[in-house]
Amino acid sequence: MSLIEAHGHIMANGVSYAQAAALHRDAPDEAAVRAALAQVRDCGVTFFRDGGDKFGVSQLAKTLAPEYGIIYRTPVFILHREGFYGSMYGFGYRDMTGARALIAEARRGGADFIKIAVSGMLDFDGDGGVTGPALPQGEIAELVKLANGEGFAVMAHCNGAENVKNALLAGVSSIEHGFYTDADGVALMKETGAVWVPTCVTVANNLDGSRFPAATMRGILEKHAETLKYAAKRGVLIGNGSDSGAYNVPHGRGAADEAAFLASLGVDTGAGDAKIAEVF
Ligand SMILES: [Zn+2]
Repeated sequence: MSLIEAHGHIMANGVSYAQAAALHRDAPDEAAVRAALAQVRDCGVTFFRDGGDKFGVSQLAKTLAPEYGIIYRTPVFILHREGFYGSMYGFGYRDMTGARALIAEARRGGADFIKIAVSGMLDFDGDGGVTGPALPQGEIAELVKLANGEGFAVMAHCNGAENVKNALLAGVSSIEHGFYTDADGVALMKETGAVWVPTCVTVANNLDGSRFPAATMRGILEKHAETLKYAAKRGVLIGNGSDSGAYNVPHGRGAADEAAFLASLGVDTGAGDAKIAEVF
């Protein structure tokens, strides 16, 4: 399989979320979407799995992608529990009735799968830990059951060793980012057949200290790389996703950068990429 982008946010621009949000807030900006799709195509990416946004940008991208020879998949937006991480790229639910309504809304919007926020993101400016609260295993399982019941696989934004294990035990089909995954998490990935999309270049492209503390970033990346090598040896499915649109991760080039980084670790993404294309 040729180069895939297993995790990107076409709505974001690799520079400033606020700037991108302002551009798309009233309506998705078609010129910006076309420029991003052209970049993706020019980098040789033929399959793009969007991570969602709340302005309908990925929905527009999906309708335009065939013109660029790109197979495009999207969850439309991320589901998150109100007050938890995820509001930048999606909508919150208060209870399972609300979650069910959001899944129905994603379906009406043409979703190919459901994306949920299990945990926060990494606090690059602080100690590199995971921000905010995370969903308990039972709640993740309820979300997975609702989504699977509608025929959707679940893509889980997730960081932190315990959170990764909870998500896997709850039955998600992919772990996105997965920073701080431990050996038990790796064993569960192997057992469940979930795909790990490690988005290494969100860190690897930001090691120079100009935006985030260099020592923090280096420490996070070293640990991530070690765990990835370990996971690859144990036959875990690993997918090539860069989180393009994130800071210093341009669309198209992000996928190429991620592929180069994983190759430098000796991690092969062929089977993981194929599983992503099949399941999502
Ligand atoms: Zn994402």
